[in-house]
Amino acid sequence: MKLHEHQAKEILSKYNLPVPEGKVAFSLKEAKQVAEELGEFPLVVKAQVHCGGRGKAGGVKIVKSMEELEEAVNSMLGKVLKTFQCPDGKPVNRVWIEKATAIDKEYYFSITLDRARSKPVLMVSAAGGMEIEEIAKENPDAIVIEEIDPELGLMPYQVRKLAFKLGLPVKEFSKMALSLYKAYIDLDASLVEVNPLVLDKEGKLILLDAKVDVDDNALFRHKDIEQMEDESQLSPLEVEANKYGLNYIKLDGNIGCMVNGAGLAMATMDIVKLAGGEPANFLDVGGGANVEQIANAFRILMADEDVKAVFINIFGGILRCDRLAQGLVEAGKIVELRVPIVVRMEGTNVNEGKEILANSGMNFISAEDMWDGAKKAVELAGSC
Ligand code: GDP
Ligand code: MN
Repeated sequence: MKLHEHQAKEILSKYNLPVPEGKVAFSLKEAKQVAEELGEFPLVVKAQVHCGGRGKAGGVKIVKSMEELEEAVNSMLGKVLKTFQCPDGKPVNRVWIEKATAIDKEYYFSITLDRARSKPVLMVSAAGGMEIEEIAKENPDAIVIEEIDPELGLMPYQVRKLAFKLGLPVKEFSKMALSLYKAYIDLDASLVEVNPLVLDKEGKLILLDAKVDVDDNALFRHKDIEQMEDESQLSPLEVEANKYGLNYIKLDGNIGCMVNGAGLAMATMDIVKLAGGEPANFLDVGGGANVEQIANAFRILMADEDVKAVFINIFGGILRCDRLAQGLVEAGKIVELRVPIVVRMEGTNVNEGKEILANSGMNFISAEDMWDGAKKAVELAGSC
């Protein structure tokens, strides 16, 4: 789950981290009140959306008066902000207003889980303000990476080393990095990113931006964070899928995929690509999916207008193939099957399942195996 910048800053400030003084506002009226409370200009108005690159897209504005503030807030609130990271844009329903910082230098700072190393890593770069992907591509040596032993945690000598390398104030940087690591662990975060971390004109370190992603699988022990979810930032289909406990991610292609088990879902996407197609989504209905979940998943796939064909790839273990087939037929009575549906089933009672589909009089196309199913789905999607 992604947090808004203002939520991340509010949480991190409880760790005594140097966050600019500010407050969130949901309307122009609230924004003006916040400005009065902060009591001085210049202030920075920042659109709160779940995508980076706001600075270059008009989502971050420094204002010197109440008039400028009003203008900035009006240019953001209620609008859709498009950035290079989110070409389709995200709706802005709140702004964060903070005291402006006089920047001397910008740095990149993040703690994330490195799956290849199976460890958290701390990444710092003097090329701050830029996207880390860009720095990694153009100047990888500019990123200093410190592996963190999860047993020991981030050690003071490690952060001191980084501070010396980058010429940052050692004591201040150490305290900050250790606190950020503590937050990363406490929050079950998969990412804590500060870009830019800045040195201001007085030589003080400040967290100018903050991005925190929390591991969805740990949300059960962070009820307070779970409640912070701003659903307007998710695609409506993702919201719907969350409600039914389906693991759904929208993608760019036109073949809707419905699969049980994450491993099989990934294999399905691979094989669709191998057959020359593009999946419209990742959808894992779960290893122990029941008929109701299959029906819900079906509705979500059919609601996606990009979907031109559906590839259902189910291994019937806990969910028997005949039950699955019945579920599909039941779902087909409620949801309009507007595209061809290729079904590959394997497992318990597979023959009974195939028979049910064949006799349903509905638009189901049976596949022999995964490869056959992928090819059929790609072909059918292409001809639509
Ligand atoms: P992002 O573009 O979505 O990552 O938004 P950021 O919060 O990182 O802001 C983008 C850029 O705006 C920063 O890299 C800064 O250069 C600039 N910026 C943001 N806040 C301030 C501020 O208080 N003072 C100054 N001078 N610049 C700021
Ligand atoms: Mn940023």
